[in-house]
Amino acid sequence: MGALAGRTALVTGASRGIGRGIAERLGRDGARVGVHYGRNEAAAKETVAAIEAAGGSGFTIGVELGLPGDAETLWQEFDRYADGVDILVNNAGIGTSSALGRIDEEEYDKVFAVNVKAPHFIVKHGLGRLRDGGRVVNISSGLARTAAMPDLMAYAMTKGALDVFTRDLSKVLGPRGITVNSVAPGIIDTDNTAGLLHGTEGGWAQAEAFSALGRVGAPADVADVVAFLASDSGRWVTGSWVDATGGSLT
Ligand code: NAP
Repeated sequence: MGALAGRTALVTGASRGIGRGIAERLGRDGARVGVHYGRNEAAAKETVAAIEAAGGSGFTIGVELGLPGDAETLWQEFDRYADGVDILVNNAGIGTSSALGRIDEEEYDKVFAVNVKAPHFIVKHGLGRLRDGGRVVNISSGLARTAAMPDLMAYAMTKGALDVFTRDLSKVLGPRGITVNSVAPGIIDTDNTAGLLHGTEGGWAQAEAFSALGRVGAPADVADVVAFLASDSGRWVTGSWVDATGGSLT
């Protein structure tokens, strides 16, 4: 029996990239997984199919985040499939490539709405569904702790705000035995980083050089860290910022 047998998970942004990797890993560990997506329903169904092919079970929930009322809609959809959640992973996020001199207010508001406001209100409206003894994992970024890419300043700011949310929320939910942690990936090979890794001359090699381990990360590298925090073995870790950058901050 898997380490998460009998538990229900919800992973936002699980149609692609890191979220898909997390959903598949939690599914393999025995959790029933809510696979949230924004626009790519077909990709979310592929995530569920991969979970089922490995012997697990899951369901899809499609809600665009970053819009008023998004969190309430998400939970209304979730309620059609499950009566509570043990593991909530706030993974859905967007980047912004606009540097300080180019970013406009609309882009700034959008990145904060998706990366900060949505997780905050997903937790607020999910408080009654989150089971005691559960887990909240927020997907942050190594960029919250390094100025290596100042062109991504606004994006990095959203992750800094998310980390404060993690810290304070751990105190709020601690009395219920719920742990809350940030997991901070370094450069992971996903659609999000395709421009950086594949669209620029020498981008892949540069990304490899960031990591002390000399390679670009894969979604599974992050998913394994989340799986540890979600498991019983992670019970004494809360309010933490877990470095999953492959040594990119050293
Ligand atoms: P990705 O490949 O672009 O996938 C993003 C996921 O989030 C997709 O499932 C997408 O759903 C969903 N999503 C995005 N905007 C949404 C919205 N407005 N409403 C609903 N769903 C939305 O991204 P990723 O690289 O896996 O990144 C996942 C998380 O890790 C993000 O929080 C990101 O900031 C963080 N991170 C990534 C890296 C990296 O190097 N890749 C590094 C550090 C941190 P649809 O496709 O269905 O719309």
